[in-house]
Amino acid sequence: MSALRLSAPEDTSAAPVSSALEPDAIPGFTALPVTTLEQVESFGMNLEAMEYVHRPSTLEGIRNVFEIARIGGRKVALRGAGRSYGDASMGRETVGLDLTRMNRILSWDPQAGVIEVEPGVLLRDLWRYCIGDGWWPPVVSGTMFVTMGGALGMNFHGKNNYRMGPVGEHVLDFDLLTAAGELLTCSREANADLFHAAIGGIGMLGCFTRIRMKMKHVESGLLSVDAYATNSIADIMQKFEERGNRADYFVGWIDCFARGKFIGRGLVHEANYLHGSDDPNPAQTLRIENQELPDTIFGILPKSILWRLMGPLSNDLGMRLVNWAKYTLSSTIGNHKTVRQSHAAFAFLLDYVPNWKFVYRPHGFIQFQSFVPQETAQDCFNSQLQACHNAKVIPYLGVFKRHRKDEFLLTHSVNGYSLALDIPITARNSERLAKLTKELTQIVLAANGRFYMAKDSVLDQASARTYLGADTIATFTELKRRCDPQNILQTDMANRLFAGFETS
Ligand SMILES: Cc1cc2nc3c(=O)[nH]c(=O)nc-3n(C[C@H](O)[C@H](O)[C@H](O)COP(=O)(O)OP(=O)(O)OC[C@H]3O[C@@H](n4cnc5c(N)ncnc54)[C@H](O)[C@@H]3O)c2cc1C
Repeated sequence: MSALRLSAPEDTSAAPVSSALEPDAIPGFTALPVTTLEQVESFGMNLEAMEYVHRPSTLEGIRNVFEIARIGGRKVALRGAGRSYGDASMGRETVGLDLTRMNRILSWDPQAGVIEVEPGVLLRDLWRYCIGDGWWPPVVSGTMFVTMGGALGMNFHGKNNYRMGPVGEHVLDFDLLTAAGELLTCSREANADLFHAAIGGIGMLGCFTRIRMKMKHVESGLLSVDAYATNSIADIMQKFEERGNRADYFVGWIDCFARGKFIGRGLVHEANYLHGSDDPNPAQTLRIENQELPDTIFGILPKSILWRLMGPLSNDLGMRLVNWAKYTLSSTIGNHKTVRQSHAAFAFLLDYVPNWKFVYRPHGFIQFQSFVPQETAQDCFNSQLQACHNAKVIPYLGVFKRHRKDEFLLTHSVNGYSLALDIPITARNSERLAKLTKELTQIVLAANGRFYMAKDSVLDQASARTYLGADTIATFTELKRRCDPQNILQTDMANRLFAGFETS
């Protein structure tokens, strides 16, 4: 049992699902097999749930699950690739509806750059499909192993959020199958309220079954990437104002072990698309083979074993050393260096080391990501880092990004910055960590900040209400009642943050 378990009860072994799912109980239905009980885990490996997992490959299959759940009084939790860090795509004793088999590309227009996909298509499949025609997804997350349904469920953002907004801004329309069984086409013109609420709606309003979106035209398969060492949060922010504003991508890394006068030191990367003759051979650089991440390190060491080699470093002392070495090397050898990198290599740094998260075994880890307005960000992030030092719970990784506001109902974004902290859970720190995350939450709320449900596993209902506002929650709850009158779509996160929408 993991140490930081804020939403799951002691016993997650579900009693067998009631006869509602038994073939004989519902005459006339293609029954769901009941031999599907599986343990589902959060990406952070700190939460799990027993679910009856079903993996339909057709729209009818999803309909069937909803219909059986409606008749049998069961709850359904939607799940893409399960890359959310906490309990956003899992629910104890629910029917887990895993969409990864709905993975067909339905249409592609290489002239207009418009693609239509099923929800289980991975971001990896999307970019691989389009890049040869000179198109790249306008917004990508730090990993390519997410589904497009899950991407919309969270309205994910990239290292260009301040320029391109979240993925939802590039969606033209989608079909949403509500738990009540209605198939609704939503766009900025049709069902606009649902369009803005289901994107980022944590799978509570219905299931995306078709998504149509516009890709970004690129003239080359390469980016020009500049690196700068920075010595404080203020310095990173200044770099952004000076240079990042004009850059196509901007991201910062922070050495969270640094303290005192070095607190907040790190490194920023700025990346820009190549244009015209910048790339003498775009036909080559746009080929998939020239985008792929290498399978080996230094050409010999299989990457798949790398996380095992990292094992001896996966403790405070080891990670202090890793952070120190990264900062020292980059602030000397790497400072003010410009290199060329493929889109995939720059975007999916976290995919370089397969299963890197296993270094956090056996208790797992959380990510605490807060989004804070420009005016309060510097003090807020410094206070967060200081609070970690006071608690003697140091994040192993800190990532800094620039954002802008967007038009979606449950948006996590602000006109400001975000800081994402990866914090290990250990047998010894769990109590301190629980206290620390409460303190960090209060620091963010006091700075008018927001949170991102894709990363969250620690917020409580009161904090969610404070940052989202009662009116927003009321509007969302009203839509939920309209689309899902029997309140079938549920997850542990919805229970934790919104009391399952039963009472809010
Ligand atoms: C290493 C790593 C790096 C990341 N980097 C970033 C980043 O840079 N930026 C960022 O914004 N996020 C980032 N994320 C978070 C990630 O993008 C989101 O958690 C994303 O939602 C994961 O997609 P998924 O397919 O795994 O969805 P899941 O985690 O399975 O589901 C996400 C949500 O969508 C709902 N859902 C799933 N499928 C559907 C559907 N078909 N219809 C309706 N709702 C659905 C689920 O119920 C759930 O609430 C990162 C995650 C990891 C692990």
